[in-house]
Amino acid sequence: MRGLMQDWPLLCHKIIDHAALNHGGRAVVSRSVEGPIHRTTYRELHGRALKVAQRLDRDGIRLGDRVATLAWNTWRHVEAWYGIMGIGAICHTVNPRLFPEQIAWIINHAGDRVLMLDLTFVPLVEKIAAQLPGIERYIVLTDAAHMPATSLNNAVAYESWLAEADGDFAWREFDENTAAGMCYTSGTTGNPKGVVYSHRSNVLHALITNTPDTFGSSARDVVLPVVPMFHANGWGLVFNAPMSGAKLVLPGARLDGASVYELMAAEKVSFTAGVPTVWLMLLQHLEATGAMLPDLKRMIIGGAAAPRSMIETYEDKYGVEVRHSWGMTEMSPLGTVCTLTADHDGLAADQRLDVKTSQGRTPFMVEMEITDDEGRVLPRDGATFGRLKVRGPAVSSSYFRDAADVLDGDGHFDTGDVATIDAGGYMRITDRSKDVIKSGGEWISTIALENLAVGHPQVAEAAVIGIKHPKWDERPLLIVVPKPGQVPTREDILGFMTGRVAKWWMPDDVVFVDEIPHTATGKIKKTALRDIFRDHVLPAGGG
Ligand code: AMP
Repeated sequence: MRGLMQDWPLLCHKIIDHAALNHGGRAVVSRSVEGPIHRTTYRELHGRALKVAQRLDRDGIRLGDRVATLAWNTWRHVEAWYGIMGIGAICHTVNPRLFPEQIAWIINHAGDRVLMLDLTFVPLVEKIAAQLPGIERYIVLTDAAHMPATSLNNAVAYESWLAEADGDFAWREFDENTAAGMCYTSGTTGNPKGVVYSHRSNVLHALITNTPDTFGSSARDVVLPVVPMFHANGWGLVFNAPMSGAKLVLPGARLDGASVYELMAAEKVSFTAGVPTVWLMLLQHLEATGAMLPDLKRMIIGGAAAPRSMIETYEDKYGVEVRHSWGMTEMSPLGTVCTLTADHDGLAADQRLDVKTSQGRTPFMVEMEITDDEGRVLPRDGATFGRLKVRGPAVSSSYFRDAADVLDGDGHFDTGDVATIDAGGYMRITDRSKDVIKSGGEWISTIALENLAVGHPQVAEAAVIGIKHPKWDERPLLIVVPKPGQVPTREDILGFMTGRVAKWWMPDDVVFVDEIPHTATGKIKKTALRDIFRDHVLPAGGG
């Protein structure tokens, strides 16, 4: 027997319909790329998104066509996002921090027909335009007054283009499994891979992230997505905020500590999300100015491991509840969030912090397990390391234009991360599977060593890589960027780490550098470090 409920497809544009109808007056505030703060509402944004849809439709963009954006978080980007999806076209957010050749490769691989770009990126795109034969039109996300002279083919200012539509248009209806968005993984090895989100997966992901122990935003919140919309589906925040009726604050191109703080204070931001690098910049600003964060209640730190000292400072000094979170582009992107339960109430501050440094637990609709290399499920004992695998309605089943089967026999996706899971379901990432150090047949967690090293007061950033060793196969090398003006020694750092980690995990050597290379999404580029230190000779007697 079938259930007798209505067939109501889970479509992304229904989220902005809901926001316009029920939270129509809620503000959407952006730092525009042109400079000034811009204010609009969900009602107005909805009307303009419909115009985007109508205008694209008039340009011949149809169901399944790809429209790329190369843009910061602003109201125009959000309108375009919904407008593109609302006719069944696919919003392909391109990461401008990639190398120009990679950007061209991605746009061609995706088969994008239109490119919407911020003013910031006009010079970059002009340089690669000759390599983009498939792009029929460039829409610069600005008005006629700011439109630069450009060599881009068929270029138009977004506001002029939009003004040619009257908004008398209805969203298209289609199946909820239709593709809605596309985002390429940063691809530290080989070519980037195209992840394709569906309307259904995006709506379900927004519901997942609106539960209390995840992002938990409500109509009382003021949400600042510092994470760019081009990074891993914008962590779903552009769906999550209008679904809950939260006020949305968009930081535009300026993600430095002073600019982010200014928006937080002026708009009374209560909830925000971003990678550790931006929260480090904000901390530096707060420490330098003595400013506090009285309105900020919750902060998601994800995309890379949150250092213990960062969690502690935001919680204890600034009174912000830090939620450490793990996910990936292929998971829409949320995998786990760390919130405490009543069971932790009696713990001492240090023990609570131990839990908070883990990546946390899965919400409903994310299934997670760890296995050995043969696929045998490993115990949830908080100690056994294994390959981290996931399953769920917002997890990738394959990549765009790629025949490779990425799921195992049970339909699990191998995340490429190595982790432990404890009896309470709290997961701790110990490494990327290609970064873990195999020493004497046992695994050493590079992330654990890095987190420990950055707790040293003179260390700004740290990375650990494996160096070939004749006896132990591989041994850890610690690479340190000292804080400005500080000159720590090898002995200082190793002395600080001694006793805080198993003896055989201790790095065999420490080197000091001015800078550690990062990927386009802010992660430490271990492949580059391995190249640089390939011939590094470890001192004798290690291991
Ligand atoms: P991306 O798809 O670019 O967001 O990268 C996803 C990868 O980032 C994951 O597979 C992890 O290796 C890493 N990652 C994300 N969040 C965390 C976290 N909280 N701690 C450690 N690694 C993380």
